[in-house]
Amino acid sequence: MAEKFDTGRKPVWCPGCGNFGILVALRRALARLGLEPEDVVLVTGIGCHGRMSGYVRANTFHTIHGRVLPLATGIKLANPGLTVIGHSGDGDAYAIGMGHLPHAARRNIDITLIVHDNMVFGLTTGQATPTTPKGRVTRSTPYGNPEEPLNPLFLALASGATFVARGFSGDIPHLEELIVRAVRHRGFSFLEVIQPCATFFNIYGEVRRRIYRLEDEGHDPRSLEEAIRRSLEKERIPVGVFFEVEKPVFRENFMHAMNPPPALRPLRPASLGPLWERYR
Ligand code: SF4
Repeated sequence: MAEKFDTGRKPVWCPGCGNFGILVALRRALARLGLEPEDVVLVTGIGCHGRMSGYVRANTFHTIHGRVLPLATGIKLANPGLTVIGHSGDGDAYAIGMGHLPHAARRNIDITLIVHDNMVFGLTTGQATPTTPKGRVTRSTPYGNPEEPLNPLFLALASGATFVARGFSGDIPHLEELIVRAVRHRGFSFLEVIQPCATFFNIYGEVRRRIYRLEDEGHDPRSLEEAIRRSLEKERIPVGVFFEVEKPVFRENFMHAMNPPPALRPLRPASLGPLWERYR
C-alpha cells in the first residue's frame, strides 16, 4: 500500500534523477513499517531533494537551507509519538547545515536523517559541494576541485551516531530495506544515499562498477572499528548497515523538561491583558 503515501503530484526532477529511486523506496518502506500518513513527519531542506515534501503524502515541512535537523529535533521532542524523517542534500547537510549533524548524532535524538548525496549542487546547476571528488570540474571549480571530499560516514561514526548506513538510489529494494531498518532503529539513524544527478554529475556507471553490499562480505555492524575501516575504503563503495548499537535516546536524558512532552500538555487559555498593560 505504498500508494497511500503518494500525493499524486508528478515529480519535476530531470529524467533519470536518483531522487526517483529514493522516493519509491521511501514510500514502500513507510508502507512496510505499517505507518499511516498522519503518523509521519517529513522535513526537507533546500535542493532538488526538497521536492520530496510535495510528493510524499504525510505531514511535511520544507524548511530553510541547512536546518532540517533542528526542525526535526524540535518536532520529535514536542511529540515523540511521531515518526520523524529528515531529508537533506549534500549541500544542505554538509555545507550550510554541517554544524547540526555531529550534535544530532551525539544526542541520539530518535529521528532518521536521509542524505541524498549527488556530490554536486544540482538545483543551482552544478557547483561543487563538500562531497565533490577532488579534481572534478564543476561550474564553481573550472580548474578542477582543489579540495579533498568530506567522508560523511566516518564523520557520523566519529560523532556517536547509533545507526550508520549507506544505500544507492539505483538499487531500490536494498534501499527500501535500509530505510525500514533506519526508521525502526531507536535513536539517531543516519542513512547516506548515493543519488546520482543525471544532469550535472552522472555517475551511475561508475557506482555500479565499484559498489558491493556489506552483508555479502560478512560485515559485523556491532563493531565500531570494522565500521570505521569500511567507511574509509577508497576503491570500492560499500553499501548496507555499517554500524548499529542501542543507547538511551535523548528524550530519556531530558525527562525533567519533556514529561509530558509539549504537544501532549493541556492547552491553557492565555490572556494577553497583562502583556498589553506592560508594553502599551
Ligand atoms: Fe536530479 Fe540533478 Fe536534475 Fe536535480 S539537477 S533534479 S539532482 S538530475
